[in-house]
Amino acid sequence: MSIARFWRETPRRYNLGGSKCSTCATVYFPPRAVCPECTSHRQSIEKMIPFQLSGEGEVLSYTVVHEPAEGFEMQVPYVLALVQTREGPVLTGQVVDISPEEVRIGLKVHATFRKLREEGKAGVIHYGYKFAPTEEPESHPAPRGPAAVARTDELPARDRAPA
Ligand SMILES: [Zn+2]
Repeated sequence: MSIARFWRETPRRYNLGGSKCSTCATVYFPPRAVCPECTSHRQSIEKMIPFQLSGEGEVLSYTVVHEPAEGFEMQVPYVLALVQTREGPVLTGQVVDISPEEVRIGLKVHATFRKLREEGKAGVIHYGYKFAPTEEPESHPAPRGPAAVARTDELPARDRAPA
C-alpha cells in the first residue's frame, strides 16, 4: 500500500469507523457505500450512515503464526485472530498482551491502537488496531487476599471467590 493511501485511510483505521445500512441495520467495516443485503432492491442507496464500532468482540478463531510476514520479524510467534465484533463485522487482527497459549475461542477482546510494523529503510511506522484481552486469562487468576478484595465487587458473580 502506498503511504498516501495509508494516510487517507488512517482516520477509519484509528477509530474503527464503519457504516451502517439504515434500511436493514447491517453494519460494515470497512465502510461500504451501498448495502449488499439491500442492493437487489436498491433500498440502500444514500441510506448508508457512518457507524462507530466499539472495538469490543470475541475471538471466533485464531492461528499462531511462527513464520512472520515481512515487517513482523521481531514479533513471532504471534496470534492472528478473527474477531466477531459486538456490532456484527468480523475483523482480522493480531492479539496482544497475552501469550499465544492463553488465547482461546470465545476470549473477550477489545481493539487497541498499536504500532503494526515499520516499512523500509525510511522507517515509516504503521499504526492500526490490534486486539487485547478484556478479561483476565484463566491461568492467571486475580490474586486472593486483602489487595484483591476491592476488586471482587466489580466482577460478575460467577467469577467471585466462594464466600
Ligand atoms: Zn441493508
